[in-house]
Amino acid sequence: MADLVKVENLSVSYKIGGGLFSQNYLKAVNNVSLTIKRGSFFGLVGESGSGKTTLGRALLNAVPISSGSAHYDDGDVSYELSKLDKTQLADYRKRAQLIFQDPYAALSPRMTVRDIIAEPIEVMKLASDREEIDSRVRTIASRCRLNLEHLRRFPHAFSGGQRQRISIARALVSDPRLVIADEAVAALDVSIQADVLNLLKSLQKDMGLTFMFISHDLSVVAHICDHVAVMYLGRLVESAPTRELFKAPKHPYTKALFSAIPSLNPDDQGTAQRLEGEIPSPTNQPSGCKFHTRCPHAIDICKKEEPSLQQTDPQHEVACHRWKELFNT
Ligand code: ADP
Ligand code: MG
Repeated sequence: MADLVKVENLSVSYKIGGGLFSQNYLKAVNNVSLTIKRGSFFGLVGESGSGKTTLGRALLNAVPISSGSAHYDDGDVSYELSKLDKTQLADYRKRAQLIFQDPYAALSPRMTVRDIIAEPIEVMKLASDREEIDSRVRTIASRCRLNLEHLRRFPHAFSGGQRQRISIARALVSDPRLVIADEAVAALDVSIQADVLNLLKSLQKDMGLTFMFISHDLSVVAHICDHVAVMYLGRLVESAPTRELFKAPKHPYTKALFSAIPSLNPDDQGTAQRLEGEIPSPTNQPSGCKFHTRCPHAIDICKKEEPSLQQTDPQHEVACHRWKELFNT
């Protein structure tokens, strides 16, 4: 499978406060490299504050890339995301779309479902003829398992799961290739999450989509993703095919995330470590390995040197000084 997205040494900083002559920066994404294969379901996990949303927004060209690069190639076009001209940017907006976390906030209460789904078609000038717009709206609405008779209603008439399907239809109406789903089921009842996940998976297959699925919840990622990348304080700390990551995680942080989910805990010998404390602030980062302040295995070198991402298996990478002695089983 060819690569749809190739990210190399990507960093994103936000300007925060500072004085008249100085400016402070917060590095939310720090030197991340990863590739997303065409047609795959790529998971991005990590605690809140680890930089997942920022990375997703960088791939949508919604925040400027501070350094490094992100390359997009869907077979029809090939773009360097930090170097798009106006026409390319307009084209890229159709090809890369976002599904929001909160289906309540994302939908305008004064618009009918039909108009909500049709709006991107009009904004992106994908069609101007009303019949054609209606036909595109109906096609995507039924793909998203919405009742076509409901298109004339307003979003308040719907449940959380139905609203999320409306936002999914809106995101997919431009026929994108890349979809960033940022905590797309986090606001939904557990009973409805599975429905929406199944819908995303079947849309991915039917429409040939590539997903970057962002979640703080490993148990959600487990069921839907082919490959999972784990972030901690702006860094990628581990990346592997889902099955392998779950069977043999090689970073103490990944292991700690697993042990928080009893049903997924691959380490049932009672040796799993609970994750203590909180993720440090990006404005006051620890020295060396950023995880050393919470890591039960940290030794001297971990406090001094930041580990680089190493390949452990063909598609498995980890950034830990001690992975070989700890987890090379
Ligand atoms: P996640 O999605 O994993 O929770 P985010 O990408 O939202 O992480 O945030 C990463 C870091 O960047 C956090 O420390 C957050 O406070 C900070 N951050 C996010 N957005 C902004 C912004 N617009 N301005 C300044 N700091 C931000
Ligand atoms: Mg987020």
